Amino acid sequence: MRPDLRTQQRDFLLEITRAITAQLDLGEVLRRVLHASVVMLAGRIGIIALRDEHENRFDLRAYTGINEALVPELNEKLQELMNPEDEGGFSREYLNAKLREMAETIDSRLAQSVAMPLVFARRPLGLLIVFRSYHTEITPEDVSTLQSFADQAAIAVHNAQLYGRLNQEHQRLEAILSNSGDGVFILNPDLTFRQANLAFERMAGWRKDEIINKPKAEVIRWQRLDNLDLESTLATGWARPESDNGRFESLYVEGDLRRRDGVTVSLGITYAPLRAEDGRLASIIANVRDITNFRKAQEMQSVFIATVHHELRTPIAIIKGYASTLRRDDAEWDDSVVREKLAIIEDEADRLTHLVEDLLTASKIQASQEVRLKVTETDLAALAARSVARLQGQSAHQFVLSFPPDFPVIQGDEERLRQVIDNLLTNAIKYSGADQTITIGGRYNVNNVTIFVRDEGHGIAQDELDKVFERFYRVDDRLTRHAKGTGLGLYLVKAIVEAHGGQTSVKSQLGKGSTFYFTIPRASPRQSESRA
Ligand code: ADP
Repeated sequence: MRPDLRTQQRDFLLEITRAITAQLDLGEVLRRVLHASVVMLAGRIGIIALRDEHENRFDLRAYTGINEALVPELNEKLQELMNPEDEGGFSREYLNAKLREMAETIDSRLAQSVAMPLVFARRPLGLLIVFRSYHTEITPEDVSTLQSFADQAAIAVHNAQLYGRLNQEHQRLEAILSNSGDGVFILNPDLTFRQANLAFERMAGWRKDEIINKPKAEVIRWQRLDNLDLESTLATGWARPESDNGRFESLYVEGDLRRRDGVTVSLGITYAPLRAEDGRLASIIANVRDITNFRKAQEMQSVFIATVHHELRTPIAIIKGYASTLRRDDAEWDDSVVREKLAIIEDEADRLTHLVEDLLTASKIQASQEVRLKVTETDLAALAARSVARLQGQSAHQFVLSFPPDFPVIQGDEERLRQVIDNLLTNAIKYSGADQTITIGGRYNVNNVTIFVRDEGHGIAQDELDKVFERFYRVDDRLTRHAKGTGLGLYLVKAIVEAHGGQTSVKSQLGKGSTFYFTIPRASPRQSESRA
């Protein structure tokens, strides 16, 4: 090669290398490669086509000396060079024929073409082709010049593909992170925030841009902790390479956190350390779960178990006490005293039956998620009258029955609906004064019947109204605490009424009393007799 050409080739290579290291975009690097190739080979036209592996096709990515209108046609022609029929690649004749066709498409005066594959680590990435308008020998120098440019182009393409993949991976991780329902954050080894997602922002009450670089302890302020926090665990040697035989254990921390706005939330955080290549701690990834509801449910359940325990023991103790008293050999009891004590025993036995019934129904609902009904003709007015007659004997309340005489008989599960009425009436008794009036009545229209139970008692605060139908829920006030109960009654009322295709509701005013309603369709409910 002539010395001036050698210098020019070197200058071109330098320029291309600079373009690659300056991370210019791939299009610009390819244009420079192409320009250098065309000049050095004294060509007239040059093209670079890259392989698209997903689509399995070639795409013209850079060209010089041709009209844009020719691009689609050239792209078509390029596809014929895509997949060689055998492993050894295309035959020289085939390749030459295709290059000639391509030259023909561009300009019939083009006399010669030189093509060079772009290859990186044995992976074919594309093609570099230079067309000349005259025919001359293609020297080994021509080939090595073009080869040097093609190699540079291959490096640039490989880099761009790597960068593209990295970018895609990064975006994928970002999307997973930001859409995760769990809170996620990443800490630097000095325990400052490197990253946090939206769910964590909500849980902690901080915005992401406020958290980044802040010390963890400023954002996560525990009010109460169930076990050692991250800082103390790190101090014991956790996540130090020498203390874990190369395997980092994750760490679970649970407790109540005071959010920035003052609200307390229960969180469970799992910390997983990530190490750098040299084994040192590089970052800590944390997965955060809001367990406030879970905790509340757990608390409600344990209160419930304690209550049931108490509720079962009390009537048993009373029954046992009165029965032993009556059995005493050394005492003679008047008939009236015996009757009085037997009545108490009977009442307490009723209470037990009622409680066991509620517990059984609740566990059945929980197990099958539905209430199975035994549907028959049911007269709710008669059911209400029977319940009132029974309860009247046990309490000093005034009872009023308020049903129109033509109140219709409906299709329903009589036993379950008796349970509903009983639960509403016993609540009215429990949560109102002994001298107050309790009214149970009904209305109807063509489609539905509605039963209401009204008392003049303590009432329920507005913000508690939605919750009283929840399982185990009891209003936490003085009155409820003293009244016996498990928090199951209204949950069962709602479940049974809904199984009949109906609805429950309540209106209440503190100090004035409450009215509970349930409405059910007159026609046969969804669940039929056959499912009972
Ligand atoms: P409990 O066994 O506690 O009575 P329920 O599910 O029947 O359970 O009722 C849930 C809570 O709703 C009760 O603990 C009580 O606080 C409130 N409640 C229910 N009925 C009435 C009522 N008639 N008047 C006032 N509060 C009521």
